[in-house]
Amino acid sequence: MAERVIVLGGGIIGLSCAFEALRLGYDVTVIEPEAFGGQASGAAAGMLAPFTENPEQPDPFFRLCLDSLHLYPSWLADIEAVSGTRADLLQTGSLTVALHEADLLPLQTRLAWQKPFGAGAELIEGERLRRMEPQLAASALAAIYTPAESHVYAPALVAELAAACRKLGARMADHAGGIQAPDLFSAQGIRLETANRGTFDGDKLVVCAGAWAGRYAAAFGFPIPVHPIRGQICSFDVPFGEVKHMVFSSQAYWVGKRNGTLVCGASEDVAGFDRTVTERGIDRLVRWGPRLLPFLGGREPIDRWAGLRPATRDGWPLIGPIPGREDVILAAGHYRNGILLSPATAALVGRMLAGSSPAEAARPFAPDRFAVATWRGR
Ligand SMILES: Cc1cc2nc3c(=O)[nH]c(=O)nc-3n(C[C@H](O)[C@H](O)[C@H](O)COP(=O)(O)OP(=O)(O)OC[C@H]3O[C@@H](n4cnc5c(N)ncnc54)[C@H](O)[C@@H]3O)c2cc1C
Repeated sequence: MAERVIVLGGGIIGLSCAFEALRLGYDVTVIEPEAFGGQASGAAAGMLAPFTENPEQPDPFFRLCLDSLHLYPSWLADIEAVSGTRADLLQTGSLTVALHEADLLPLQTRLAWQKPFGAGAELIEGERLRRMEPQLAASALAAIYTPAESHVYAPALVAELAAACRKLGARMADHAGGIQAPDLFSAQGIRLETANRGTFDGDKLVVCAGAWAGRYAAAFGFPIPVHPIRGQICSFDVPFGEVKHMVFSSQAYWVGKRNGTLVCGASEDVAGFDRTVTERGIDRLVRWGPRLLPFLGGREPIDRWAGLRPATRDGWPLIGPIPGREDVILAAGHYRNGILLSPATAALVGRMLAGSSPAEAARPFAPDRFAVATWRGR
């Protein structure tokens, strides 16, 4: 009989891990208190931008992001082959724009160290920049063009992953309501009780509860230092192709989607688990629009929403078994890059489920890196 894997949390990380576990032959159940992709994953702009997101140095996090970007095309093809629908991967490349001389030096530094990593990036100025992105403000001095970066439509990818998991035979327990674990490690293995979907038993558990992962700390007797950072984001009614690349400035980004929206994100603030959209959060995005893209002047967003990024103290995810329990794997805390990091995270979790010692690449993300002797979470 196949080993039973329970995946807790039906965002993109949980669904990606479930898809991987199904492909490896496990008997998989995904438990989600609400709707699949109803939290951060459904709110995301879907950018796959490891070079822009990591301007400082080639650290292990950058390498994980880059590995994940490389995995994306074949991973999407595998999902599509099962789900029968196509995820919309748009290979637009990105432009990181400098408005002032002072912004140029960090861009040039980034360009230099990222070159050996295949960014294929270059500094574009003047007429050439205007030809590449005709809507860009005349005040834009220069931009790094990074052709390797792309984006997906995150809500569609989540739906596609859920469909693929269903087709591969997973039990998909969405709208399960509250999850309790009074007898987590029972004689039958791992046992979880849900308010709406009954009790589930498994042999292994993968915890992908995003910003809520810390709620399992007491059950595991182990600190899970993940906290929510609210991201507010909006969209404008703009024909597809009007803005050709992902455009980044120091204050906001703009991403043109095939459905005729230009997504503009994203604010960051600490508001606990509150997903309310505020005037202040959206206002800055609306004000910055015309400085980079003058045609946005006077326009109001047609939609605005918010999500809770699962953040950790060092900004890196927690991926690995919890100490002393090889049967409980944590995959949470993906902060600003969970859409990008899904294939790489799923591949690492797949290896860990199979009992392989965590790959060298996973060591920097070990969940116990923050553990302190004074932990009193029990
Ligand atoms: C505005 C915004 C823009 C973003 N843009 C990008 C981007 O362009 N590119 C990128 O790579 N990343 C982006 N991100 C980050 C990305 O969305 C996250 O890193 C990613 O979605 C995290 O996925 P997740 O599955 O861990 O979390 P989630 O999608 O939040 O999923 C966690 C799930 O766990 C469930 N849950 C809650 N409580 C429990 C419980 N007790 N037990 C079990 N499950 C529970 C939740 O209901 C939820 O469905 C963005 C985020 C935001 C907010």
